[in-house]
This record gives sequence, structure tokens and C-alpha cells, in this order.
Amino acid sequence: MTTMADKARRMLLDDADDSVEDNYIQSLDAQAEAKARKDERKKHTDKVLALYQAGQKPSLRDGLHVSDIFHRKAICWRKMVLLYCYQQNPVVHSAMLTARFETGNAIHGRWQENIARALGEEIHVEMQHVETFWKLLFTPDIIAPYEWDEAIGPEPTIWEIKGYNDAEFRRLTLKGGLPTDAILQATLYAWFTGIHRILVVIENKNTQAVAAFPVEYDESLVTPLVPTFDRIKMLVDEHLADATILPDRLDECTSPDADVPKSCAGCTACFSSNQQRIQLRRKVAWE
Ligand code: SF4
Repeated sequence: MTTMADKARRMLLDDADDSVEDNYIQSLDAQAEAKARKDERKKHTDKVLALYQAGQKPSLRDGLHVSDIFHRKAICWRKMVLLYCYQQNPVVHSAMLTARFETGNAIHGRWQENIARALGEEIHVEMQHVETFWKLLFTPDIIAPYEWDEAIGPEPTIWEIKGYNDAEFRRLTLKGGLPTDAILQATLYAWFTGIHRILVVIENKNTQAVAAFPVEYDESLVTPLVPTFDRIKMLVDEHLADATILPDRLDECTSPDADVPKSCAGCTACFSSNQQRIQLRRKVAWE
């Protein structure tokens, strides 16, 4: 016989089952809603990034720049010859890389404009120079007088401007020392120009804090690059004498759509025939 107590127990257990099931269903609904919101956000993020990427100014340069050589992990000798001898194709970067470049450019622009206003006409900003023997292009951020010693007065100085994120800026300023790349780049400009005073100004991209690092001119940093410059010049001269002679493609450059060629400014010339390449010749190289 079912007692009142049994009935009450039964009702309580049924309620408990329902509430567990309700909670479970609510949690599934909440998860599905959260996922839908996340998917929606991702859809719109991808869309605005695609627009940002599509609107970038494609980077298009002319000639072989020093930075094409020493910023690379591995040199493509074919590319070095092509960049010197032929017009480059525009390179389209990812939205994130574009934004990084643009942020860096904005920092450079601010410094160049302010130093120019402070010093007037004595300053050279982003002036392209040509190293005459190797015919390499290089562009110091600023060449401007700077007073290193009050007794001597302002001396011509190579200024390099660098932007770093907060963590890197703190690391550099607290532990001291600039990245080797920054020192090498500035020293190279000093070597080419004969201006041996070097100042590297770094700015914190997050806080705009600034630190200026004097760099001691040290020619021994640069001379190990001479064999590379010599080899490029030899390969360029060989190609100019006989346009069918060109270093081989890298193994990974199997087609213009492969990853490395897509970001290579020499890709069009690289995958053109000897005949097609004639249309792409840089006059200054072939005169
Ligand atoms: S596409 Fe590849 S092989 Fe051709 S020049 Fe560029 S990096 Fe070199």
C-alpha cells in the first residue's frame, strides 16, 4: 500500500530529475548561444580584416636595398640579381603585418617631422642613397646634426628610429642593449655614408616612452658582409653580360602561388622567361 510519505518522496525525486534536466538543457542552450556569438564575431572580424588588407598600399620598391639582404634568414641569390636588374612586383601582406608596418611607419613619420621642425633644413629624412661600388640602395631614417659634446657642437649623425612593444622595450631598456639587427643596420649606414656618429631612438609602441641609445661605430660588424655584397655584384655583372645566366630558384619556390613567391618582390621576374624579362628591365641597371 502506498503511503503519503511514499507519494511525497516520489514527487520530490521527480522534481529533482526535472530540474537536473532543465539545467542541462539551459547549459546546452547557453553554450550554443556563446558559440553563435563567437562565430558571428569571427565572421565580422574576418570581413573587416579582408577589407583592411584589400585597402593596403602595396609595397613596391625599386632596386636592391641593403635591407633586402641582411634582414633575411637565408639569401635567395636569384632574387638579389632580379631586384637589381628588373622592376619589382607589388607584395601584398596580411592585414596584421600591414598594420604592423603602418604603425612602424607612423612612428618614423612623427619623429622625422618633429626633428625636421626642430632643426630646420639641416636634416635629411628618408633620403635614398646609393652605395656606388655595389650599387646598393639604403635609406637612413634621419641624417641630422646632434650635439654629442657641447665643446664640439652638433655633429652629423645617423638616426635610426625603432618601435618596440612594451615587453621588448622594457627588456631592452632594463637589461640594456639593442638587437643586433638594429646595431648592424645603423652601423652599415654609418659605414656607407662615412658619418660615424650613430643614435638609435626606440619608442614603446604601447606607452610612447622613449630611450636613445648611442651606438659606438665599429667597422668590424660590417666587414663580414663584404663577401655577400661581392657575390651579389659578381652575379649581377654576370647576368648583365649574359641575361640567360641566373642563379637557380629556391627549392620551395615551385610556382608563383607558393608561400615564398607570394611574398617575393622578384616573383614576376623570377617566373618570366628570358624574353618576357626584357620588358621588366630597370633602365638604370642596363644602361
Ligand atoms: S620567387 Fe623564390 S626563387 Fe624566385 S626570386 Fe623570389 S625567393 Fe627567389
